[in-house]
Amino acid sequence: MYNVEILSRGHVDNQLAGNYFEHVTLKSLGLHIQQDHPLGNTCYNPRPASTDNFVVIDINGVHMVSLDFCGCKSAQTNYKQLLHSRWFPATTTEPQTATTFAVLMSSPTFSRVKGIGI
Ligand SMILES: [Zn+2]
Repeated sequence: MYNVEILSRGHVDNQLAGNYFEHVTLKSLGLHIQQDHPLGNTCYNPRPASTDNFVVIDINGVHMVSLDFCGCKSAQTNYKQLLHSRWFPATTTEPQTATTFAVLMSSPTFSRVKGIGI
């Protein structure tokens, strides 16, 4: 859940360069997301996502990030780790893209469906 907060609160896609803003990615600013471990808690068996440009679609934009899945003994599958973080993976095998639940909940289709506990 921490990674969602990072994307929401730490949205710094534009960096002041002189008198104008230039577009930078969260990845270029050093953001590296570790799944299934809270901030400050080290994973001793990180497994990098199959791509170094994991795409996260959030309410405030589309972000390229570096992401490691947890490979600890009690780790869940990759897609379950994403779901636990409230990210909906595009695929269940080797996900490279995910949409935050916030985006899904902002969709009229999902917001009209009663009983979905997202
Ligand atoms: Zn771990």
